Amino acid sequence: MNGIQFIRTKAPKQKPDKGSLQFGNIFSDHMFVMDYSMDKGWHDPRIIPYGPFEAEPSMMVFHYGQAIFEGLKAYRNMQGEIVTFRPMDNIVRLNRSAERLCIPKLDEEFVWEALKMLLEIEKDWVPDGEGTSLYIRPFIIATDPYLGVRPSHTYKFFIILSPVGAYYAEGFEPVKIYVTDKYVRAARGGLGYTKAAANYAASLYAAEEAKKKGYTQVLWLDACHHSYVEEVGTMNIFFKIGEVLVTPSLEGGSILGGITRDSVITLASSMGYKVEERLISIQEVFEAHEQGRLEDVFGTGTAAVISPVGELNWNDRIIKINGGKTGNFSKMMYEKLTGIQYGKEEDTFGWVKKIC
Ligand SMILES: *Cc1c(COP(=O)(O)O)cnc(C)c1O
Repeated sequence: MNGIQFIRTKAPKQKPDKGSLQFGNIFSDHMFVMDYSMDKGWHDPRIIPYGPFEAEPSMMVFHYGQAIFEGLKAYRNMQGEIVTFRPMDNIVRLNRSAERLCIPKLDEEFVWEALKMLLEIEKDWVPDGEGTSLYIRPFIIATDPYLGVRPSHTYKFFIILSPVGAYYAEGFEPVKIYVTDKYVRAARGGLGYTKAAANYAASLYAAEEAKKKGYTQVLWLDACHHSYVEEVGTMNIFFKIGEVLVTPSLEGGSILGGITRDSVITLASSMGYKVEERLISIQEVFEAHEQGRLEDVFGTGTAAVISPVGELNWNDRIIKINGGKTGNFSKMMYEKLTGIQYGKEEDTFGWVKKIC
C-alpha cells in the first residue's frame, strides 16, 4: 500500500448547484496533507477532512513568503470518466519551484499516487456541466516558528480541491489588456519561472491600476529594457503574425513555462503552423498591427485554457485586435484543447490521464 492514512469526514457538505459555480470559492470534503522535518523527511501522508489547521504567528511563511503552488484540473469527460490533463508536468514543475525556493523536493510518483487517491475519494465533486471542472491546488508552505531569514526546516504540503464553473459563462469573450512599462513582475535571475506565491504579491498593484483604467489584466514587459513581452497576468501569451505563431521564449528564466503554452506549441506545430519561441518587443506587436499582419492575440493557462485578447493599451496607444472580436485561431485552439480534455477529440499526444 501507499501508506496514506484516510480519515473520512463526519459532515459531508452539500455539493454546489452546477449552474452557480464560480472560481475558487468552494472546497471539497477532503484534502491531502503531508509534513516535512529534517529527521523524518516528507512523512505522515494523510487524506483528512478539509478545514482549518493550527499555525503559530511566527510561522516563517507569513514573514518571508517561502511558499509555492500548482494549479491543474480534473474533468468529467463525455465518456463519464474522471480525467486529468498532463498532471506529471505539474508535479515536475512543483519540484522545480521547490528547488528554487530551497524547499525539499517531493517524490513525484508518490504525489501522483496521492492525487489519484484523493480524486477517487472526491470523484462526486467533479461537476458534469459543460466547461466545468474540479480545480486542483497543490501547495507547500514553510512552517518553522522562527524569525530570521533562512530556509525553514519544516514544511507542510497540501492538495485542496475546488469545483469551478465554465470560465466563459457568458461566451468566449476577448479581454482588454493594459501593457505596463512602469512595473515589472520578475527579473532575470529571480523567481519568474517558478509558481512562487511571491510573484503574485508582486503583481497586485499593477493589476489594480489596470482595473481602475478599465482593463482586465496586465501585460508584463521585461524588467531590464521594458520592451520585450513576457506574459499576461497569470497566463502566457501568443501572437499570430501572418501565418506564424510567436510566443516569448523561456530562456531568460523570468517567464512561467505554462503547460497550456506547451500544449498550444505542440498542437499548432503538429497542424503545420510555424511556431517561434523568441524575443518579441511590444513595438514589433504594434507594428505588425499597423501593417495589418496581427491576426490574433491570446493568453494561455489552465484556468481559462485560451483567453482571446481584444485590445492592447500601451502608453495610451490603443489597438483593437480583430476589431475587438475573438480570432479564428484562438477559437480553433480553444476547441481543440478542451475537446481533448473532455474526450470529444482524440488524444494523440497521451496527455489525458484517467483517474476512474
Ligand atoms: C500558472 C501560470 C501560467 C500558466 O501555466 P499553465 O500550466 O498553462 O496553467 C502562466 N503564467 C503564470 C505567471 C502562471 O502562474
